[in-house]
Amino acid sequence: MDFSSLGLNEQLVAAVSALGYQTPTPIQIGAIPAILTQQDVMAGAQTGTGKTAAFALPILHTLSKSAPSEGSQVDSFRTIKALILTPTRELAQQVHTSFLEYGSNINLQTKIAYGGASLNPQIKSLKQGADILVATPGRLLDLMFKGVVKLDQLQVLVFDEADRMLDMGFSDEINRILKHIPSSRQTLLFSATFDQAIFDLSKTLLKSPKLIEV
Ligand code: AMP
Repeated sequence: MDFSSLGLNEQLVAAVSALGYQTPTPIQIGAIPAILTQQDVMAGAQTGTGKTAAFALPILHTLSKSAPSEGSQVDSFRTIKALILTPTRELAQQVHTSFLEYGSNINLQTKIAYGGASLNPQIKSLKQGADILVATPGRLLDLMFKGVVKLDQLQVLVFDEADRMLDMGFSDEINRILKHIPSSRQTLLFSATFDQAIFDLSKTLLKSPKLIEV
């Protein structure tokens, strides 16, 4: 099994191979083909299993099909098409770095927004255009209320470490964010553990999800 047989384009295969990844991990083998067919996915995966690439690679693949060609002057028209919600700033930073690495050969802009840091640099960066946003829930809501972030064109919504998001009390924020996101989107939920709260959340969020456990 290699990355190209999972259906990923050659820019992505080149990027992961430059990072030294030789074979996909089990969560990547399970999730990538399903995500490429636009299905909802609910995946049980701990940190260290390669879960970030399991959602980042197919998102980059799908969005790259409508990405502007390199050097075109359309940055101000970029809209957020994928949103990755994370419980912490540290995880947001890791996921953002992964998108930059995997997407290094693709003309898509991935931006980041998290709390505990000043707003203005994040606003400035977002105003320059974003296709993909990695964010923590509270800061994202601030930016939505300020009109800096609009999610009406969103195609893919990812919950990374959903169990930690609920443990940290982000349910209200999640529900407020969801009101501004099209219901026709694809939703991907990654969680290290599954308890009743996660199943309840998944019922309100996911449509006939493919379940993947590794
Ligand atoms: P994650 O579970 O997303 O936090 O990833 C854990 C680590 O595994 C990260 O350092 C990744 O760069 C690395 N990684 C992800 N996928 C692969 C792969 N297929 N082969 C080798 N390393 C990988």
